[in-house]
Amino acid sequence: MDAEIIAIGTELLLGATVDTNSAYLASELAKAGVNVFRTSVVGDNIGRIAATINEALARADLVICTGGLGPTRDDVTREAVAQAFNRPLEFHQELLDQVAARFAAFRRPMSESNRRQAYLPQGARAIENPRGTAPAFLIEDQRGTVVVLPGVPHEMRFLFETAVLLYLRDERGVRDVILTRTLHATGLGESVIGERIADLMEQANPTLGISAKRARYELRMGAKATSVEEATAMLDALEATIRTRLGTYLIGDEPLEQMVPRLLAERQLTLALYEGHIAAPIYRAMSANPQGAALLRGVVIHPLDEAADEGASVALALSGAASVSNRWRSTLGLGVQAAGTPNESGFTAVSVALVFPGGNRQATRYFDLRQPDGWGFVSTLGLETLRRYLLEPENPAPHET
Ligand code: AMP
Ligand code: MG
Repeated sequence: MDAEIIAIGTELLLGATVDTNSAYLASELAKAGVNVFRTSVVGDNIGRIAATINEALARADLVICTGGLGPTRDDVTREAVAQAFNRPLEFHQELLDQVAARFAAFRRPMSESNRRQAYLPQGARAIENPRGTAPAFLIEDQRGTVVVLPGVPHEMRFLFETAVLLYLRDERGVRDVILTRTLHATGLGESVIGERIADLMEQANPTLGISAKRARYELRMGAKATSVEEATAMLDALEATIRTRLGTYLIGDEPLEQMVPRLLAERQLTLALYEGHIAAPIYRAMSANPQGAALLRGVVIHPLDEAADEGASVALALSGAASVSNRWRSTLGLGVQAAGTPNESGFTAVSVALVFPGGNRQATRYFDLRQPDGWGFVSTLGLETLRRYLLEPENPAPHET
C-alpha cells in the first residue's frame, strides 16, 4: 500500500511550528510496511487543502492528514475534505455529545464554536478522540482512503496507534513489518566505508544507508518482512556482513561518545585531560556523558602562549597528557594540541597524545578548524584514540588503587 501524508496548518508554512507529525507518521508507516513516497505541507485554506488531497489520492491509496480540526474558523480541514470528496457536511449529535461530555468532565462551559467539531463530511466514519475535543475521521471513495487526525501531536499519535494501525491491519490487511537498526562506525573516510559496503547499499531489501557527521558514520539498516522474527534475521545477517567488511572500524550499535565512557567506566579506568584550546573538544564530549563525567579526574585547559608549529604541538600534547595523569593519578592521560596557525590550505595540524601505564602513543591529523564543526572532528580523533587503545586485548589492566 502506498500512502501520503499531508500536514495542515499555516503555522507550519511560516516555520513557526516544526512539522513533527509528518516525521512521526512517516516512521510509523514505514514500520508498518506502508510505503510513503511523498509528504506535503499546506496552509489552512479550503481550496488548497482540497486540491492537495485530490492530488495525493491520484497517486496513493491512503492519505493521512493532520491538523485543522480545531473549533475556530481558521481550522477548515473538515470543509476541505468535504470539498475534495464533493459531499456535504453533516451534523452528528453523538459527536456533539462526546465533545459536551468532555467539557463537562473538565467543568468548563462548551462554546458555540465547538458545534463545528460535530460536523463530518457525508459518509465519513468518526474516530473517537478521548485525548481532545476534536473527533478524527476516516472517509473513503473509489480513489482511496483519507484519514484525518488532529494536529496536537500527542492526540495525533494516540489516535494513530489506537485507531489507524488497527484499521490498517484489520480492514486493509497490512501485515508487513519494517525494522530498522543503526550501527556506528569511525576511523575511515566516508568514501572508503562507502566503497566497502557499496553493493549492500544497492539492495532493495534489506536497505542500507550511510550518513556522516564529524567523521562518525551512521549506517541505517532497514528490513521489510511479514514477521518481526524474519525482519530481525535479515538485519542480523546484514549486520554480520557489515562487520566482516568494516572490521574494527565498526563501533556497533552505540555511538562513539557513549561507548568510550562506558568502556572506561566498566574497566574502572580514570582519565585526565590536557586541552590546548578553549574549544576543549574531549572535555566537552566526556563531561556531556554521566559516566564520562564521573571518571574524569581533572582537566587543564591551556590555550597556547605562543605560536606552536606541528612539532611543538606533538611535544605539548604528550607532555600535557603525562603531566595531567601524573598530577591527578589517573590511569590515562589524554592531551590535545593544535598548531598555532593553519597551513596554506587552511588546515591545522592537531596532535592527540595518550599516556597509559607503560607507554604512550600519539596521532596527528589535519583539520579545517574554521569550519563550524571543525573541533567536532578533533573530538572524534581523541575518542577514537581511546577506543583503539581499549580494543587491544592486552589493554588496559584495571587500575590498582
Ligand atoms: P490544529 O489542529 O491545526 O489546530 O493544531 C493544533 C496544534 O497542534 C497547533 O497549534 C500546533 O501546535 C500543533 N500542530 C499542528 N500540526 C502540527 C504538525 N504537523 N506537527 C507538529 N505540531 C503540529
Ligand atoms: Mg490549526
